[in-house]
Amino acid sequence: KMANETLKAELGNASWKLFHTILARYPETPTPEQKQHLADYIRSFALVYPCGDCARHFAVLLEKYPPQLSSRKTAALWGCHIHNQVNLRLHKQEYDCSTILEDYDCGCGQDEAEELQ
Ligand code: FAD
Repeated sequence: KMANETLKAELGNASWKLFHTILARYPETPTPEQKQHLADYIRSFALVYPCGDCARHFAVLLEKYPPQLSSRKTAALWGCHIHNQVNLRLHKQEYDCSTILEDYDCGCGQDEAEELQ
């Protein structure tokens, strides 16, 4: 069995990947319903995250930095910022957020083009 720290890091990697990818695919101009869906997802993510300590710390960060959901870019930058707050606490390097949308391209751009047709 892998060391606990390795398992925790892998869970973090996978979780952040999904988290940032969802934010980078959030609509450019979200409807109130789409805003609510993302707000619910973020709140639930914090509630169900399986590392208890992580979840507790993240809930505190969410209070301090409430989700910014007015547009795709705003949401993606907010997500980058809150991850940087976790990085700071764990003494990790700050991530450069300036290319966040490109960094989390999921290859699903075509889906969006189809929706607009
Ligand atoms: P990660 O932080 O997992 O990041 C993965 C990749 O994302 C990086 O390699 C980089 O390419 C990119 N990245 C880095 N920063 C950003 C950013 N700001 N925006 C966008 N992309 C970025 N671990 C603990 O030990 N204690 C905790 O309290 C804790 N709390 C956590 C809370 C949450 C909500 C989550 C999801 C994870 C938490 N973790 C915690 C795990 C921790 O954040 C890392 O995932 C883990 O330490 C592995 O780190 P890493 O260096 O591989 O990169």
